[in-house]
Amino acid sequence: MHIVVPAGGIGAARFLRGLRAAAPDAQVTVIGNTGDDITLFGLRICPDLDTVMYTLGGGINDEQGWGRADEAFVVREELAAYGVGPAWFGLGDRDFATHIVRTQMLSAGYPLSAVTAALCDRWQPGVTLLPMSDDRVETHVVIGDEETGGRRAVHFQEYWVRLHAEPLAHDIVVVGAEDAKPGPGVLEAIARADVVLVPPSNPVVSIGPVLAVPGIREALEATAAPVVGLSPIVAGAPVRGMADKVLAAIGVQASAAAVAVHYGSGLVDGWLVDTSDSDAVPEVTAAGIASRAVPLLMTDLDAAAAMVREALQLAAELAG
Ligand code: GDP
Ligand code: CA
Repeated sequence: MHIVVPAGGIGAARFLRGLRAAAPDAQVTVIGNTGDDITLFGLRICPDLDTVMYTLGGGINDEQGWGRADEAFVVREELAAYGVGPAWFGLGDRDFATHIVRTQMLSAGYPLSAVTAALCDRWQPGVTLLPMSDDRVETHVVIGDEETGGRRAVHFQEYWVRLHAEPLAHDIVVVGAEDAKPGPGVLEAIARADVVLVPPSNPVVSIGPVLAVPGIREALEATAAPVVGLSPIVAGAPVRGMADKVLAAIGVQASAAAVAVHYGSGLVDGWLVDTSDSDAVPEVTAAGIASRAVPLLMTDLDAAAAMVREALQLAAELAG
């Protein structure tokens, strides 16, 4: 069985760990969000690809959900001693090595997809990790500009990490998406999919940019394979992070049903909501999406694997 998973960072990575446990024999292709990517200290950083790679490869800082385990911060201290920032983006020494390798390969002319494959040679994540595109796509958040009284766009990382998603987000702009091409293998993977699982990732800034690359949403809508999503919103709030802020920016309510309707019945055939949101099931069903309520908190690996089994079960029913 070939399973395709469009993915963000932490929520997706934990879900994918559950997927590998629940379906060890499945072939899994992950289409990773690169809208979060940023260049800092002259280095190209791909937070979502790295979170998936480190989590599945056993190198993640588990409590934090991102970055490396057993990390040291000597480089950060030395940069600070030079007065070189930004200090708001935490990069450890082990993590720096990944970004150095990536940047060196990109500078030598390799596309991001080839670089990602090379990094995965070390980590052996047990999935095929494909960037959504080799072209540069950057998610920006439109916020108020105190100086001019107008508006300005900041990189998603600046909004999320430096500003803690505190300023009101007026809009989300995925810069470069309309001119981007799907990465090598992405459309082929979707065409070969037996099942597509949309993990409980941020629908706006993680899955949104993947769907914004021309051809990817269309391929997911056209596939005969069942597409089943899992709600990242539980009991009217994101389980982790600030997804409600960016949902509001695009006019979508932070509820399990509203996210399903936002994806739409053209994209998702099935939608799992948490047991605490069972009253959302009729609304999702009325939108033409098969729905049921099951526990959706990834408290540990077993819980994540159980969620995957529920999603695969619903997919099997939808495939008839
Ligand atoms: P990011 O790139 O690190 O923000 O990661 P993702 O976009 O993949 O995931 C963030 C989303 O995952 C947030 O909207 C969370 O609400 C959701 N999430 C995190 N943990 C859980 C969980 O245990 N259950 C569910 N249902 N959603 C979760
Ligand atoms: Ca992310």
